[in-house]
This record gives sequence, C-alpha cells and structure tokens, in this order.
Amino acid sequence: MPETMLTFTHVPQSQPDKRTVADRRADFSEIYRDFASSQARAQSSRCSQCGVPFCSVHCPLHNNIPDWLKLTAEGRLEEAYEISSATNNFPEICGRICPQDRLCEGNCVIEKGFESVTIGAVERYITDTAFERGWVQPVRPRIDLSQSIGIVGAGPGGLAAAEELRRRGYQVHVYDRHDRVGGLLIYGIPGFKLEKDIVVRRWRLLEEGGIKFHLNTEVGRDVTFAELRARHDAVLVATGVYEARDIGGPGAGLRGIVPALDYLITSNRKGLGDAVPSFDDGTLNAGGKRVVVIGGGDTAMDCVRTAVRQGAASVTCLYRRDRANMPGSLREVQNAEEEGVHFAWLSAPEAFYGNETVTGVRAVKMRLGLPDASGRQSVEVVQGSHFTAGADLVIKALGFDPEPLPVVWAQDALETTRLGTLKINPRSFQTSLPGVFAAGDIVRGASLVVWAIKDGRDAAAAIHSYLAQTEFAIAAE
Ligand SMILES: Cc1cc2nc3c(=O)[nH]c(=O)nc-3n(C[C@H](O)[C@H](O)[C@H](O)COP(=O)(O)OP(=O)(O)OC[C@H]3O[C@@H](n4cnc5c(N)ncnc54)[C@H](O)[C@@H]3O)c2cc1C
Repeated sequence: MPETMLTFTHVPQSQPDKRTVADRRADFSEIYRDFASSQARAQSSRCSQCGVPFCSVHCPLHNNIPDWLKLTAEGRLEEAYEISSATNNFPEICGRICPQDRLCEGNCVIEKGFESVTIGAVERYITDTAFERGWVQPVRPRIDLSQSIGIVGAGPGGLAAAEELRRRGYQVHVYDRHDRVGGLLIYGIPGFKLEKDIVVRRWRLLEEGGIKFHLNTEVGRDVTFAELRARHDAVLVATGVYEARDIGGPGAGLRGIVPALDYLITSNRKGLGDAVPSFDDGTLNAGGKRVVVIGGGDTAMDCVRTAVRQGAASVTCLYRRDRANMPGSLREVQNAEEEGVHFAWLSAPEAFYGNETVTGVRAVKMRLGLPDASGRQSVEVVQGSHFTAGADLVIKALGFDPEPLPVVWAQDALETTRLGTLKINPRSFQTSLPGVFAAGDIVRGASLVVWAIKDGRDAAAAIHSYLAQTEFAIAAE
C-alpha cells in the first residue's frame, strides 16, 4: 500500500467548488468547478483500499474504483483513465450525473464519522484530463466484419452497445428519431448537470470510429421494423420510455399545464441554438411566471431548476411524500433549494383553477402511513388540509411508461411485460423475436444512465455470441 492512501483520517472530504448561486441562476452551465490536480490527488488518497470495495459492488458497471483512485493519488492519470474506461464507455458522463450518493459514494465504507471519498468528481477529473491530453481515441477495430447490426435509439444504452459492437468489427448503424445523438443526455438532462458539448464530443468520436448514424429516422414511421430486420443481421432496441404519466382531476386540461419532457426538450433545444416557437411564444417558457412542478424524481428536479434559470417569478415543487422518501437525488434537492426552489413536501394536487389558462393548483396535505407490500410507506390524505398554490405554468413530472412497441411497430410477436417494457431473456438479452435484442429503459422502465450503459455493453456481448453461433451454424451446414 503506498503511503499516499488512507488519508481520510486527516484529509477532510471536499467536493469541487460550486459556482455562486447568483451565477448559477443566470445560465445553464454546469454548477461544479473542476478539481485542481492537487485536490483530485488529495481526495483520491482518502480511499482506504478496503478488502471488499462496496463502491464497486454497488456500481452497476462494477467500476474498479479503488484502483483508479490509487493511481490518481499517485499521479498516474493515464493508467487511471485506462482502468476507468475499461468498464465504462462514458465515464465523464457518469462522473457528472450518476446519483453517487445512492450508488458508489453512498456505500463507501470509510469509518463512520468520516465522509465518503468523492468518487464521482475524481472520475470526472480523470476523464476530462484524458480528453485534454488526447488519450481518448475513437474505437479502432482490428478486423472489419461484414455482418451489420441496426440499433434503434441513440441514448446511452444504444451508444454503449454501438461502441462495443464496432470495437468487435461489426458494421453498426444507429437510428434515431431526433436530429441529434444522445437521447435523454442531449434533450432531457439540462446543461447545468451535463453540458451539451460533452455529449456532442462523444457523438463525433463514435462517428470517427465508423458508426453510422441515421438521424431524423423514426422506426415505425420512416422505416418499418420489418425492413430494419431484413437490413441487418441483428437488431437492438434501445428506445427508452417516453409515455408521460398524466394527471386527472378538475381543470387538468387547462392551458399552461404541460408535460415535463416537452418543457425540458424545448429548453434544451433553445440552449443548443435551435429556433423554438413554443419557447418564444411563451407556451413552454417559465420567464416571469409562477411555476408549480408536480413530482419528486430527477425529472422534477431538472424542471424546477430550469424554471429558475428561465427567470420564473416563483418555483414550487409539490411532492406527495417527504424529503427522505423522494426518488430523486438528495444532492439535486439541495442544489434546487440553494437556487431558490420552494418544496411543498407531503402535498398532492387535487384540482386546477382557471378559465382557459391555469391560475392555481388546489392541493391537499398528505401523511405517511404504514409500509405497503414493497416496503414503501403509503400516503394518506390529511382531511381538511387543502391549500392553493398560485400558478401560471404547471409542469407534470410524474414519470414515464413505455410506448406500446408491438402495436406501433406492428409486431404482435414482440412480447412485453405487464408494465409494457420489452420482455427479454436476461442471459441472452434476446426478445421474443429471433435476432432482436433490447437494452436500457425500454427493458428496465425509467432508470439511470449508468444502467443503460451496463445493459448496452452486456447486450453487445450477447449479440456478438449470437452472431458467432449463427456464423458457426451456417459454416457447419
Ligand atoms: C429529465 C430527466 C433527467 C434525468 N436525469 C438523470 C440523471 O441525472 N442521472 C441518471 O443517471 N439518469 C437520469 N435520467 C434517466 C436517464 O436519462 C435514462 O435512464 C437513460 O437515458 C436511458 O437510456 P436509454 O438509452 O435506454 O434511452 P434514452 O436515453 O431515452 O434514448 C432512447 C432514444 O431512442 C430514440 N427513439 C425512441 N423511439 C424511437 C423510434 N421509434 N425510432 C427511432 N428512435 C427512437 C429516442 O429519440 C432517444 O434518442 C433522467 C431522465 C430524465 C427524463
């Protein structure tokens, strides 16, 4: 063990500095400053190099975190990058947007009383340095194979699979209905968490590696799924989940009550410099408005913080459970509170006021009850606790369900689960259709970027074995 490690007893935890709240509220740039090299080394050296690294165990990608922390502490950054990128296609993205407080850092076993190692910030530092120094290169397959794979969806799941398959020499074609690559990384997650040039930089590298992108191409509209299957030796479906859950009740159809993703896509497009009429005409623009966001997940946090940056008069988040029971990252809640968002915990909407356009939300207070079968505490209404929150814009961030792909793609034989996600064999990643695989949110339901990357990598390995077996079977005939 080098003398550099185990310094957690006398080096306190420090995250990269945040920009001032006034600065943050004024633009969509990331809020964390970069680690200085000395700070990254010192923070890495706090790792205790424990025997069973729970950080790795609880990382979906099982990143070899203690190894790259040790190398960073020793100043061996190129090796640290090699180790970190061996298990993760996009470590600079995970370093920025993984909920580390629930995954690696949340499971760091440094003794109680000392705070965890700042794993996410070091991961980001290593990969940003690797980009600066030219260590990140496009994939260069050793052989070029004739077999081709069609991937539907250019989100993190599809992109991780694309890179892994191209690395093995396959001809990889990625289809996406959007005009840019990245899925929710480009159009869902706002720039203050993940600046867009970071996503575009990956897109360019993947293109340089020989992956072909077919953008503005919606499978089921511009090309049928059957055509795609005929065109390729295997198809991977990585389409994510996009059916927004809706809210009912009196007044739910009023103007000014909008789905979260429409709002976020509009804001992201505006930031990317596109002409966006729905922003310019005020429909999906929070500027000067009293905004109420309904929901408590990552999407809701992104909406409240976007509204702050657009110059909303006030921003309130209504969530029916309390802070401890919300699904979003607590770090993001803290960031939102610092930026001036008001959280109305244990509050659920019942009705919306207004003539044509919404003017307010009638809500009721909730209390937490006994845990249900899943172990999660149920919620019940506190009688007579109604209150009204004034609102000119209400954003519904209640989660997403999958689109009914068997219907949309006219593929009756494509089996789904009772939740509507695609059913796969968990070992082979194959759906009920031969040669058709699936990965990411369309299999798991709304999840995390790191899980989509993990699934994309595993699906690529499964497609590789499937194609190798098919080739072998043909050769044996
Ligand atoms: C607002 C928001 C914030 C989030 N914040 C975080 C976060 O901070 N950290 C985190 O880890 N996770 C976060 N998530 C979750 C994360 O973004 C997803 O889990 C992840 O992007 C899923 O990856 P995917 O590749 O499965 O799908 P997606 O990223 O959804 O990509 C799917 C792609 O498929 C395309 N597509 C769909 N249907 C078709 C079709 N018929 N034809 C062609 N193309 C099609 C879509 O256009 C899209 O580009 C957030 C999600 C949202 C909505």
